[in-house]
Amino acid sequence: MTETVAPGVLSESAVTDVDWAAAVAAIRAHGPSGRVLLLCHVNPDGDALGSMLGFGLGLRRLATPALQATFPGPFEIPVPYAELPGIDLLVPEERAFPDPDLVIVFDVAAASRLGGLGDRLAGAQATIVLDHHASNTGFGDINLVDPAAAATSVVAEELLARLDVPLDPRIAECLYVALATDTGSFKFDMTTPRVHEMAARLLATGIRPGDISRRTFDTRPFGAIKLFGEVLGRAALDPTAAGGHGMVWTYATLEDLDRHQQRSYVMDGLIDPVRTVAEADVSVVVKQVGEREWAVSLRSKGAVDVGKVAIALGGGGHRLAAGFTGYGTPGDVVVAVREQLDRHLL
Ligand code: 5GP
Ligand code: MN
Repeated sequence: MTETVAPGVLSESAVTDVDWAAAVAAIRAHGPSGRVLLLCHVNPDGDALGSMLGFGLGLRRLATPALQATFPGPFEIPVPYAELPGIDLLVPEERAFPDPDLVIVFDVAAASRLGGLGDRLAGAQATIVLDHHASNTGFGDINLVDPAAAATSVVAEELLARLDVPLDPRIAECLYVALATDTGSFKFDMTTPRVHEMAARLLATGIRPGDISRRTFDTRPFGAIKLFGEVLGRAALDPTAAGGHGMVWTYATLEDLDRHQQRSYVMDGLIDPVRTVAEADVSVVVKQVGEREWAVSLRSKGAVDVGKVAIALGGGGHRLAAGFTGYGTPGDVVVAVREQLDRHLL
């Protein structure tokens, strides 16, 4: 699989030519001689890691000798992403350049999602943000933010094309994982012709979508399905919530993980069976991360803007997929969600 594909057709994105040109100039200025640090958000998902590593592999082709990638928080790479090409670019947070010249940030809507790595932004000579969250705060010097893009990897692909870096199978695999993650494996409404055109360019490098999808989405340890069984068994449905559109919710504790000897990344997949429930527009999974601290995933089928709900509760995300950090008991968290749901019906 050594075939390469010429840079793709440039898309009609919301980013201006001035911004694209500024990003290209900053990379050309600092890449060959400066320290370049790539960052993505805490608890990274397929789009965060895939767009960051795919872009990093592209930077390697441009000869970027001092290049690192990292994310805040525990240095635990979810197993589905552990074999992504370019994974060797990753270093733990504490080993990341303390004083990078260029910082490039992927899939991060607000600097708060960078945790302790946020301090790298201030000292850098240039910061470039690649993202697709409508709520992006524009915290970079150069902000390549396209809310119409299905994934951050759409922005990453275009920037690579503008840098004249051709796609190769390793770059393509990373960008494909990112695109497939954020489109729900090409099932969500954001799966536009533009998304399929990009997928076609990626597939043309020779990558194998069946293998990639099985590894990324359809493989989990036996203990994880036993854990899922218990957690789904305690799901609760309230058809009166969200103005009668209905809400289904469940929770998973650290003790549940321990009992089944599972790592926390397996809980990322819990929302998918929960959100299939026909009687509920809104689904909620409350995942314990600390004694009274919970990572909350919200999904809507369209009746509620869960992005607004998440923002009201200190988090963020998109209209149909969002999250926040909740405190107290799972019941406390769900009460808070219910209150906000009634305010943010579409
Ligand atoms: P997930 O439920 O898959 O973890 O996240 C869904 C979406 O919500 C993602 O787009 C992610 O960026 C956003 N999100 C999840 N948790 C948080 C959070 O704690 N803060 C913010 N700002 N966004 C979040
Ligand atoms: Mn994303």
